Amino acid sequence: MPGYLSCDTRNRGAGMLLHEAAIRLSRGEQLSCGRCGCPVRYYVRQKWANARKRGDVTFEVKKVARLYPHARKDRFDPFLLWTQNVSDRTDVKILPIFWAPGKTRKISGGQFPPFLSPQDWKKLFQKLGNRAPT
Ligand SMILES: [Zn+2]
Repeated sequence: MPGYLSCDTRNRGAGMLLHEAAIRLSRGEQLSCGRCGCPVRYYVRQKWANARKRGDVTFEVKKVARLYPHARKDRFDPFLLWTQNVSDRTDVKILPIFWAPGKTRKISGGQFPPFLSPQDWKKLFQKLGNRAPT
């Protein structure tokens, strides 16, 4: 799940961690660049299995749901990302992700979908809602 942040003047990273950006977006906050102050966008690149064209497809994260809004950041922290294809805006996809502490206590983003109960999935999708942000 290679994701990255970029501000409108193309500062990669924008002085912010992806996990922090996901938390702030789940609260409905706007992200602004730590270097230049302009708006920051969260992008995800995906490779399609059996895709005819080579290369990645870039999606912009438009909306975020966090399962445990009051979780400490060093705990298992699952999210749903509502994303939109940057070249075909009608292409909307939902990506489940998580962050979790590793053996070294370093927080890492999950490469696999979070392993959750049906109730937890239902809660996440309810938080995400079924309408795209405007
Ligand atoms: Zn910037």
